[in-house]
Amino acid sequence: MQQDDDFSKHIFADEHDMHAALLSACSLLEVNSQNASAKFYKYTMLRATATLEKGEIKLRASDGFRSASNEVLLGLCLYLVAKLFRRKIRGDGERYVRAYGEFTSSEGSRKLSNSMRVLRGRKRQTNPKGEFFDLNASIARVAAEYWQELDGIELPTPTWGDSRSTRVLGYYDDAFNEIVINKALDDRRVPEFVLDYVVYHELLHAKHSPHYGRGKSLRTTVHTTAFKRDEEKYPRLEEAQAWVGKNRRLFYEIRIL
Ligand SMILES: [Zn+2]
Repeated sequence: MQQDDDFSKHIFADEHDMHAALLSACSLLEVNSQNASAKFYKYTMLRATATLEKGEIKLRASDGFRSASNEVLLGLCLYLVAKLFRRKIRGDGERYVRAYGEFTSSEGSRKLSNSMRVLRGRKRQTNPKGEFFDLNASIARVAAEYWQELDGIELPTPTWGDSRSTRVLGYYDDAFNEIVINKALDDRRVPEFVLDYVVYHELLHAKHSPHYGRGKSLRTTVHTTAFKRDEEKYPRLEEAQAWVGKNRRLFYEIRIL
């Protein structure tokens, strides 16, 4: 989704997940993983490398992989470690590598398909009513409470998105002025103020356009200072972010073998 400093605040994947996937890959391929590290980098492209430096396996992946499932992360690690040590991927491993291949090709074509959708003028179906939460009700609450902050914007259409295909809590699709909220949040264990926070955050993306880096830095700042100033008006901001941090395992059990 968005690439900037606050990236990890509202997504699920972190370097522990990546490291866990790397260890699983090493053990499946019978490679010594005692000195193995994994790190996300802000590459502009979706790419990943594994190198051997003084006996240490170093995996570097673009932070676009933060939105990948554990299955995809394991596939990525299997693929790179097998290549590095010339091991053969057997059995179940092939399935994970396939998931990784599908992820990279779908992410790469996401931008293209976005513009295609606009050209064809075809809008995907929206689905705001969940089993526990109605996103229209959430937007109504948030818009009533923060009408000053959201004044002048055309309120986006909300829809629930598939929780299995992404680990992002929510995102704003400016092609259709739509906010997509992870279906995993449609759960009785999720407090309403947490859902409303995610909705408010995504609504702010409709208001604040990203700041595009110039020159050598191609980084895009999505959560600009003005964005953060508005976000801080959510009184239970820290509580909501802490809840997400503490409960991420509720939604994504580690399925790595
Ligand atoms: Zn954001």
